Amino acid sequence: MAEVKYKVKKGDQVQVMAGKDSGKTGRILKIQRDTGRVIVEGLNMVKKAQKPKSQGEKGSIIELEAPLNISNVQVLCKKCGPTRIGIKVDGDSKVRICKKCGESL
Ligand SMILES: [Zn+2]
Repeated sequence: MAEVKYKVKKGDQVQVMAGKDSGKTGRILKIQRDTGRVIVEGLNMVKKAQKPKSQGEKGSIIELEAPLNISNVQVLCKKCGPTRIGIKVDGDSKVRICKKCGESL
């Protein structure tokens, strides 16, 4: 059965709830549904060595966003801050709402 496992969407503003970037906020760039992880813009940065493109060129170190466990991020509600997402059925469509205040997200 196709169950909606993750309610977050690409582009959501989220707050990190655990780890080295705990408390920081950012926008979801990518959701990896198969592993249950998300890439959040500017968060959980890791340094990676990039191979030189051609011979004689030096490799460089670049910073990349490492995936965060989806359970460690919470969507930000404009009123309450980090919150859980609820689903409200409105006619034929489903609306994502803040579980604390009921405001649509
Ligand atoms: Zn709220």
